[in-house]
Amino acid sequence: MINPSSNDVMEEDQENIEEMRRCFEESRKKRDASSSKLGEYMLNGWALMAESCPQPDCSMIPLVCKKGSPYYCVSCGGNFTRSTTGTMLANGEYKC
Ligand SMILES: [Zn+2]
Repeated sequence: MINPSSNDVMEEDQENIEEMRRCFEESRKKRDASSSKLGEYMLNGWALMAESCPQPDCSMIPLVCKKGSPYYCVSCGGNFTRSTTGTMLANGEYKC
């Protein structure tokens, strides 16, 4: 060990990299699970919407919609409505 303080920094960096890798891996798994679920819904007549789920945990996950139903997120299972300003609202009763 030449310089203990620089070694500490390196270990910290290593932990940060591990943490980042874990986060990335988890979100990738979640995306994979969501895309296969999306495929199932589309086969059942649900349309893929241009809007993504507004929940922070589901960023980039597109909502699906079927006639007579509110927008639905396959990842968190939430129903959503598009407000007049274009933002997605949770627990929507809107029928598309
Ligand atoms: Zn969601």
